[in-house]
Amino acid sequence: MNKRDYYEVLGVSKSATDDEIKSAFRKLAKKYHPDINKEPDAEEKFKEVQEAYAVLSDPNKRKQYDQFGHAAFDGNGGASGGFGGFDFSGFDVDLDDILGNMFGGGFGFSGSRKRNGKTRGEDVLYHMDLTFEEAAFGCEKDIKVDTSVACPDCDGKGGHDEETCEVCHGSGTITSEQRTILGSFLSKTTCTNCGGTGRTFKRRCSTCGGRGNIRKSRTITVKIPSGIDTGMRLRVSGKGEAGLNGGPAGDLYLEFRVKEHSFFKREGDDIYLTVPITITDAVLGCKKDIRTLDSVVTLNIKGGTNTNDKQRIKGKGIKNASTGRTGDMYIVFEVVLPNKLTREQKNLFEKLSETNLEDATYEKFAKFVNKG
Ligand SMILES: [Zn+2]
Ligand SMILES: [Zn+2]
Repeated sequence: MNKRDYYEVLGVSKSATDDEIKSAFRKLAKKYHPDINKEPDAEEKFKEVQEAYAVLSDPNKRKQYDQFGHAAFDGNGGASGGFGGFDFSGFDVDLDDILGNMFGGGFGFSGSRKRNGKTRGEDVLYHMDLTFEEAAFGCEKDIKVDTSVACPDCDGKGGHDEETCEVCHGSGTITSEQRTILGSFLSKTTCTNCGGTGRTFKRRCSTCGGRGNIRKSRTITVKIPSGIDTGMRLRVSGKGEAGLNGGPAGDLYLEFRVKEHSFFKREGDDIYLTVPITITDAVLGCKKDIRTLDSVVTLNIKGGTNTNDKQRIKGKGIKNASTGRTGDMYIVFEVVLPNKLTREQKNLFEKLSETNLEDATYEKFAKFVNKG
């Protein structure tokens, strides 16, 4: 299915301000809310609007979307190259807040966010440079990340000596009846006393100030699969920001930039190597040792090889762990003309020029010249 452009979904321009995006979202969310809009496609539209807003309201995700389009969040294609893109399970759209005025809130669209006050941590994005070889073969890298982690003193709870919340009696929500123009609704709101967890603490944790998490620099060892290319992303599950109230941590995303090699060039999983040959080797043919990614092989170069002629060495490209495919290696020849000759070499060339080297190609060209 073709995904619609997020800006188009919200009906705003690419340069829309945060306020314009928010206001467009509110309008559409109300319009397509499945509880008022009974059109068959309302729910689908509602989800589409939610998804568009989740991305465009987050400055980081919006930037990635502007750069890569849907591919930025799609594990099956584009820049992420099969390593998994962003998922939306943790997105931070608080529909209860947005729709609350109209419906009294509590429709449960924010899902895991409100259930027991558990909130999934934010995803974080780090950039990493790799050498050509590290990208080609895969490697292990230590990366220093600075995120929030669950507080070790209270196990992420925020306090000690847990008790049942006396305001909501452990349910985390407070139910009340609300009358609106659309009728009477049972409205559920998050308990403010316990933040929706249903639990309170006799003593607030002093290490984290009750937040349940602290900032910490950690060194994480990441196994990077072979075949990474510039712009690809790797998801390291659960290594992002800590969740709240026992919610799961977000994910860490690594985005790669692969440095160029001074000899090998890369196109996808194929690699190219330009091999200089002398004019006599090009004319007469020769054997030549060349370096592949992992070995030295002897190449049979046939007589009459021209600049830009290619020779393929099958299976000597990059072994891509994510696709399971191994690329090929292409040798591109470059005939290098000598710019300094000894007297003897000059004599030999002069002698050679007295012979007729012109073949059919030259005859065709001569005909073209004489026509004019
Ligand atoms: Zn409570
Ligand atoms: Zn703590």
